[in-house]
Amino acid sequence: MGKHSAGPRSGRPMPSVDQVEGLEAWFAAAPELEAWTRQSFIEDGASLQNGDHAHLQNASIGFLWTNVDNAKKGRIVIGTAEPGTPQGAMGKWGRAKAVMQIEGWFGAVPDFIITIDASWWLQASDAEACALIEHELYHCAQATDEFGAPKFNQHTGRPSFTMRGHDVEEFVGVVRRYGAEATGVRALVDAANAGPEIAAVDIAQCCGTCI
Ligand SMILES: [Zn+2]
Repeated sequence: MGKHSAGPRSGRPMPSVDQVEGLEAWFAAAPELEAWTRQSFIEDGASLQNGDHAHLQNASIGFLWTNVDNAKKGRIVIGTAEPGTPQGAMGKWGRAKAVMQIEGWFGAVPDFIITIDASWWLQASDAEACALIEHELYHCAQATDEFGAPKFNQHTGRPSFTMRGHDVEEFVGVVRRYGAEATGVRALVDAANAGPEIAAVDIAQCCGTCI
């Protein structure tokens, strides 16, 4: 992608401050965040279009705001991406309840659910917010076959979706001691050294999906 002077087409959506600062645990569907994400990063002609997300033109994505803290193993989680279908072991009633909740938010079970920490979002810079959304979008991947070709569902013809882990998971101290080659972070270092394609993105990214 070349240099972009313009930011996302319209101002990024903001959650309700009253809800965020309320004492009640709060989750709410954020269709305005989905619309903004599509017109900023996914659609053809999007203001900050990234071809890496092209398969998501055919995906349904449910976005959620929450004011619930999510600290895990010493890290603060500010966003997650997960499959729309409830995961993990749960009984029939547990699964049915979870599906009913998801349908209540989105009308149907989406391919993916992206949850954003609304209080973090309120104080984040635009670049930080964009980086978080694209981080979560990168987790929402298209499956590939054994030759690396994109997979499609044989019945629907839609992309076959899957969750994708982080490209790099390493300790700074190990990279400091052994270097980029031995730790497999060369591509990350090169990307960082090349400077941002879009804007000055200076963000310590935290995401709970892969912890
Ligand atoms: Zn992540």
